[in-house]
Amino acid sequence: MNNQNPVFIPGPTNIPDRLRHAMAVQTTDHRAPDFVELLKPVLEDTKKVFKTTTGTVITFPASGTGGWEAAITNTLSAGDKVLIARYGMFSHRWIDLCQRHKLDVEVIECEWGSGAPADLFAERLNADKAHEIKALLVTHNETATGVKSDIGAVRFALDAANHPALLFVDCVSSLASIDFRMDEWGVDVAVSGSQKGFMLATGMAILGVSEKALAAADAADLPRTFFDFRDMAQSNASGGFPYTPPLQLFHGMRASLDMLLGEGLENVFARHHRIAEGVRAAVGAWGLSLCAKTPDLYSDTVSAIYVPQGFDSNTLVNHAFDAYDVSFGVGLGEMSGKAFRIGHLGSLSDVMALSGLATIEMAMADLNYPVEIGSGVAAAQEYYRKTNAFGLKKAA
Ligand SMILES: *Cc1c(COP(=O)(O)O)cnc(C)c1O
Repeated sequence: MNNQNPVFIPGPTNIPDRLRHAMAVQTTDHRAPDFVELLKPVLEDTKKVFKTTTGTVITFPASGTGGWEAAITNTLSAGDKVLIARYGMFSHRWIDLCQRHKLDVEVIECEWGSGAPADLFAERLNADKAHEIKALLVTHNETATGVKSDIGAVRFALDAANHPALLFVDCVSSLASIDFRMDEWGVDVAVSGSQKGFMLATGMAILGVSEKALAAADAADLPRTFFDFRDMAQSNASGGFPYTPPLQLFHGMRASLDMLLGEGLENVFARHHRIAEGVRAAVGAWGLSLCAKTPDLYSDTVSAIYVPQGFDSNTLVNHAFDAYDVSFGVGLGEMSGKAFRIGHLGSLSDVMALSGLATIEMAMADLNYPVEIGSGVAAAQEYYRKTNAFGLKKAA
């Protein structure tokens, strides 16, 4: 196992040395006064990443899945109707979680590779005159298919129908990598985690919670203890935590926020876009196609790429690992065997992206794919040579 090679899975992502060092701290007492000095600015600065001024940032020692559960249990009651579209493995898992919590889950089935169907949501919301739908759940970036959805359009559908449903958004694989605007889009609970755009170890669910969602907690009767928003918000307000906080991850968050805000969020998004465009240029040169159906859906954090007929994407991913010690994403759910994924988010440069493209080309050549070795790398090189960090053409 060569631990110098980056991973090209769409999370957990590569941890920059600065963040690994930041997390390597000795235990200190979280009830001592200096924990407050660490916690409060971290929560404040995380709001900037969600682009919220009115929301509250709530964290739990958990992964993103715990964040999904917290969103549901703090705001809804048994039997409440929620509306959600299934268009990939992550929306599928959120549906499963809602069903296990005995919600009345209305699912709009969409083809994998498409995005959140704002038009179908609009139709359904307009028909729901009695306001039975209590929440609308949307996966911003479907990591299984490399599809980014338009959350602004979903908000527009809610507003146009004058519908009071809460809007929950899974932004686990988009926050801190792709533009996300919690306040502008009227998102009530935004769910993320430490191990993707924040480039940290797994272990912290990171949520942005609106005033409306916090206010829903009193009436909501689904059981929760560990994930109670009110316990966490009250403790945090006085600088504490209702149980033992993941101290090392808070040190990591401090450093991660310093990196992200130091680079500038818009620059972070532009870097992800440029790297992704290079990857997409390679896919085009290979003659392969993305699962994402149209360019407006292309994700800047992960590309899911169909393998040619007669090939198995899982064999390709396994071979790249066995032969070259480099991890790519397997096809999930309906995409199993049909598509592999290149994760291009977090701590990544154009140079690192080129190494991943070169590796998967070698693996494809080994397995006799009808792909010309070097073609994708060359296309990405051309794109990176001609663009600067903002994806614009460089001056000659
Ligand atoms: C990674 C991911 C999750 C959360 O998964 P965990 O393993 O629980 O952190 C949720 N949604 C999406 C879109 C993801 O990419």
